[in-house]
Amino acid sequence: MENRFLVRLKIADLKKIVIAIDGYSACGKSSTAKQVASRLGYTFIDSGGMYRAVTLYLLNRGADIKDLNNVEDHLNHVSIDFVDESILLNGENVDLEIRSREVNENVSEVSAISAVRRKMVRQQQEIGLNKGVVMDGRDIGTVVFPDAELKVFMTAEMEIRAVRRQKELSTKGIDEPLESIMKNLQDRDLVDSTRVDSPLKMAEDAIEIDTTNITLEEQVVQVVALAKEKINEN
Ligand code: C5P
Repeated sequence: MENRFLVRLKIADLKKIVIAIDGYSACGKSSTAKQVASRLGYTFIDSGGMYRAVTLYLLNRGADIKDLNNVEDHLNHVSIDFVDESILLNGENVDLEIRSREVNENVSEVSAISAVRRKMVRQQQEIGLNKGVVMDGRDIGTVVFPDAELKVFMTAEMEIRAVRRQKELSTKGIDEPLESIMKNLQDRDLVDSTRVDSPLKMAEDAIEIDTTNITLEEQVVQVVALAKEKINEN
């Protein structure tokens, strides 16, 4: 215990870096990013949670997401904060609501709207100003932090991703058939990687990690090792 504390202190003394973790839906990005941040004493930011929170807000207001002016007006009333790794939408904890099927089905369309991206990216860049951040998403290494010291791009086979997502949802009390999860992942991947503004793609200097046959612990160990190399280089 004491040793672990000392290791953390030592890491905290070192120069801090930014770690960008991008990839397709349900490849283990958030789970990995969260653990990596905890082991390095860094801040973890789930950027997907931010896009989900905006989507939830628009759905709750019955907004027409095809009406871009209307979306922009609504955006002025959206405020997102992170407290103890929970996401707050206008001060209210929405950790559970942002994982609903309705949000899943609309989030990629909302995320393709440039005004939404501008607002989210601005806030994400502010959070990263002091470094010491692990952020996961789709455009973190390409758009949000193009100069991030470490960029990871995670992939995994579709069936494995769907099974993992199903298990994760069931721990939150949400039961979804595998077929519908797979369909949603495929739909989101397609919209996310073909949109005009900040499409999902691997940054040229990113390191790819295929998580199909490795455990979460192995993913975390790999990323922490890469991070330590970068910290020592900097
Ligand atoms: O990471 P997660 O699956 O929760 O993200 C939900 C959605 O948010 C993605 O499918 C994508 O449409 C959007 N997103 C994005 N840019 C990010 C993070 C998420 O467009 N940086």
